[in-house]
Amino acid sequence: TDRAADFAKSVPHVAASGMRDASEQAFVDSVLARMTLPEKLGQLTQYAGQWGQTGPRVETATEDAIRRGEVGSFLSVWGADVTRRLQRIAVEESRLGIPILFSHDVIHGFRTLFPVPLAEAASWDPDVARESARIAAAEASAYGIAWTFAPMMDVARDARWGRVVEGAGEDPHLGSVMAAARVRGFQGTDLRAPLSIAATAKHFAAYGAAEGGRDYNIADIPERTLRETYLPPFRAAVCAGAATFMASFNEIGGVPAHASRALQTDVLRGEWGFNGMVVSDWGGLQELIPHGVAAGRADAARLGLRAGVDMDMVSEVYLKELPAEIAAGRVPMAEVDEAVRRVLRLKYRLGLFANPYARGDTSRELPAGRLPAEHRRAAYEAAARSVVLLRNAGGVLPLDRARIRRLAVIGPLAADRHSPLGSWNGAGRDEDVVPVLDGIRRAAGSGITVDYTAGVDSVRSTSGGGFAAAVRAARAADAVVLVVGETEDMTGEASSRVSLDLPGAQRELVEAVRAAAGRKPVAVVLMNGRPLALEWMHDTVPAIVEAWFGGVEMGNAVGDVLFGEVNPGGKLPMTFPRATGQVPIYYNYRQTGRPADPRNEYTTGYERSPSTPLYPFGHGLSYTRFTYGAPRLSAARMGAGDTLSVTVEVTNAGGRAGDEVVQLYVRDPVAAVTRPVKELRGFRRIRLNPGETRAVTFRLTVDDLAFWDAAPRRIAEPGAFVVQVGGSSEQVQSAEFELVTVDGGAIAVP
Ligand code: BGC
Repeated sequence: TDRAADFAKSVPHVAASGMRDASEQAFVDSVLARMTLPEKLGQLTQYAGQWGQTGPRVETATEDAIRRGEVGSFLSVWGADVTRRLQRIAVEESRLGIPILFSHDVIHGFRTLFPVPLAEAASWDPDVARESARIAAAEASAYGIAWTFAPMMDVARDARWGRVVEGAGEDPHLGSVMAAARVRGFQGTDLRAPLSIAATAKHFAAYGAAEGGRDYNIADIPERTLRETYLPPFRAAVCAGAATFMASFNEIGGVPAHASRALQTDVLRGEWGFNGMVVSDWGGLQELIPHGVAAGRADAARLGLRAGVDMDMVSEVYLKELPAEIAAGRVPMAEVDEAVRRVLRLKYRLGLFANPYARGDTSRELPAGRLPAEHRRAAYEAAARSVVLLRNAGGVLPLDRARIRRLAVIGPLAADRHSPLGSWNGAGRDEDVVPVLDGIRRAAGSGITVDYTAGVDSVRSTSGGGFAAAVRAARAADAVVLVVGETEDMTGEASSRVSLDLPGAQRELVEAVRAAAGRKPVAVVLMNGRPLALEWMHDTVPAIVEAWFGGVEMGNAVGDVLFGEVNPGGKLPMTFPRATGQVPIYYNYRQTGRPADPRNEYTTGYERSPSTPLYPFGHGLSYTRFTYGAPRLSAARMGAGDTLSVTVEVTNAGGRAGDEVVQLYVRDPVAAVTRPVKELRGFRRIRLNPGETRAVTFRLTVDDLAFWDAAPRRIAEPGAFVVQVGGSSEQVQSAEFELVTVDGGAIAVP
């Protein structure tokens, strides 16, 4: 079946997390009825552990506060010993015995680090994301963690923003499929299971629309854009049963998300039927003061609670400010009670009341160097499936073992044991990482001598002191692999970059080595967490492999790709620009009245520079070659209740087995508002043997044709539509059909 294309239709419109049963409600109400105000506000309060380099984190709330029943949750306190000790105080020594909820940022693995989320999105395989989340949950739960602040599902179109690494890229549909898969992976089918942890859909909402790509910045987008581009993954997360949401740091059009009742209550709970819990982001409530919508901490507390933010991460404004606000009649007790109910409900759903010690199991904790083989295998599989072959002129790759005696591996990142862990690396350890160099050595085998030289002292170093050695190594070798890019700390939170080029002297290094290598095979392996602007590299280096921050098995995956054991099949989840000045750049842009035309300067573009991307969304090559037949439609006209099938035959016309991601785009050429030039509506990753042909069928319903009009209302309009099918957003074949409505007018699509 077509998992991706059927996704939107298979999920129920009512939240899967909808009201379970009467016993949950009765239980929660009975606990609530016995609580004092300080106990209630305690449940709404989350304390942080202190970050340390090694060992268990130190809790900042005192044990006495736990005894008083005033600690609802901890973040970044983990380890079976410490969580069990604190849990025992809460359960046995506090008046009501309400268990503590331990949380952590488990983003792409906990002990076994997987590729960063942007990389996993490049696999275009939701099973990769689901499996990595499942393993992360199993590992994290051993350390007492019951709740993760993931998945992040912020659609991002500006690669300067450092947090693009944490999401699924620029597309709402791909983002929705990946978000739902991750939620299911973390939570499993039963949230009470000791190996399941609660997921958080974050950051709600439009954090990825940060102006200028500067972290925490304002998002100046209209509601139409919010709904069409930024909200769909969140809606998908609700449908997949996400237990919690996190408010985002940014404001949208003047309203900070933490103070937005429209978002946290009206859309989330009202329209989507979410009945889980909303947590603030780190200090997000007290940030309402610098935002300038709260005069002080009491205002901040009142605004946040009113908006629908249930739990206060580290601001302590609910705990400290709400008593006076309630006493003065400025905050109704019912608002507090509703938030407390949501926290208790989450604890109940996680099975914490029934068994507070189910998670936190020393026997399941994993010492360094002892990752389970099955987790490593999954990490390898994810890394291999995430690799995107950006360029392969003249078939330089895969490297031919028979023609290589000496291989030069050059670049500071080749031997880096830390960066493959990526940003937000949980309890990952450098010693568990297979560096790219080691993976290349293993894949090269004993018949090839591998010479390694860094070329530059570090990724950021601007000195060319190591170039001479690199040039010598390139001259002495039969083939050259350069490993360049970013270190892991250059992406993630507070890591926006003003330039998307290679940092430091890496460009000069690549150019010097490339020149020295002459006609020998030269390949670049990129390690990075965002699209880079590498037009110069495309013009000089024949083979470029995007390997991202690939997790603990990155080296093995890269080695196998370079020598052809793995045929790369990943595709870009974000557009790669030619130059930094092109961002924001994305495939599903809306056309202007003056479409870009390089022959006419009075069109949408830049002076003397193309406005096209270097590598478009959905791009990715293979060691084999795929050909596409023309798309066939099941009908030329469809009614509003019909399903239209789009079938395309894909053939592996090359000499190796390989994976292809078949992509389906839709375009609505004439509508009440300007529409994107194309929008992804389905995809499927398939594997074909040489010579094999497969028919791939996608199904379209009116939901795939709907859009937000100027009101904004979600509607579909009758008339012509274009479907485009192919192996990237720019290599497509088209067919047309017509949507017919009963009275010829637009129809509402909920
Ligand atoms: C980030 C969140 C994260 C939280 C807790 C914040 O700074 O924005 O994504 O979950 O910290 O670590």
